[in-house]
Amino acid sequence: MKIVSGDRVIYKFSPDMEAITTVSPGDVFKIETNDCFYQQITSEEQVLTEIDYDRLNPATGPIFVEGAEPGDLLKLKIVSIDVKDRGVAAVVPDEGALGDQVTKPIIRVIEIEDGHAIFHGVKLPIRPMIGVIGVAPLVEDGEWATDSPWKHGGNMDTTDIKAGSTLYFPVGQRGALLALGDCHAIMGDGEICFTGLEIPAEVVLEVDLIKGKATKWPLVETDQHTMVISSGDDLEEAIYEAATQAVNHIKDSLGIEWEDAYIMASLSVDLKISQVVDPKATARAAIPKYVIPTQKLIESI
Ligand code: CA
Ligand code: ZN
Repeated sequence: MKIVSGDRVIYKFSPDMEAITTVSPGDVFKIETNDCFYQQITSEEQVLTEIDYDRLNPATGPIFVEGAEPGDLLKLKIVSIDVKDRGVAAVVPDEGALGDQVTKPIIRVIEIEDGHAIFHGVKLPIRPMIGVIGVAPLVEDGEWATDSPWKHGGNMDTTDIKAGSTLYFPVGQRGALLALGDCHAIMGDGEICFTGLEIPAEVVLEVDLIKGKATKWPLVETDQHTMVISSGDDLEEAIYEAATQAVNHIKDSLGIEWEDAYIMASLSVDLKISQVVDPKATARAAIPKYVIPTQKLIESI
């Protein structure tokens, strides 16, 4: 299996990135990812303001996918996410959903034992996920620092981006130019304090291509749902976009009027918060597979 080393990283997703390696549809390969601080934090005594902020949110890549062209849909099955045995969480004044209440910065180094993060005696079962994953944006969307989510993916911080899920990205540039990093051993929806349990990881992906079926926003497919992941200046805007796309997918897949699709969505689609702490907020609209199977949803694009 090909291994993509974590020492080649990007800090922005731009339309004209230079690939470091190539994979082909059908390939299964492993990517080493760094934590969002590039492992600069190793002790709780460190001063957060003294780390190098130019090295936040490194994403390993870009990886060129043979045959991918603008207008295609990149399909990535997340085979596994293996995290290290120790992660970091932090609180910073003015960051996070309650940033105005933070009186002092703190760092917590948290050990993982037997699949549980141990914090203040509480055993939290880990649920590894990928925080930053995306492709080169369309030229008209411009470049995006890796700390922000947008239509190309990026810092979506979505708990459903986990082993067993399948991601779909609209290809913006030839070769797609995939990059990823910022795994979390565990995080709650919202990521309210501004970090998850930040941790280096090894991610195994299986890559495939669906020709000529680009979505507007990334999708993540889980056991039960197909979710549209959208971002906006605030949660309202993110939810509006996610709901718009979900209703349109239902309308197009079932061939019903928009108003009926709107009702169908109201009866069945769950709106979920992904994160409220990055430069753009992220939400997802989860369409049950009993309403539309994922394959049918994609075929009707
Ligand atoms: Ca993140
Ligand atoms: Zn993170």
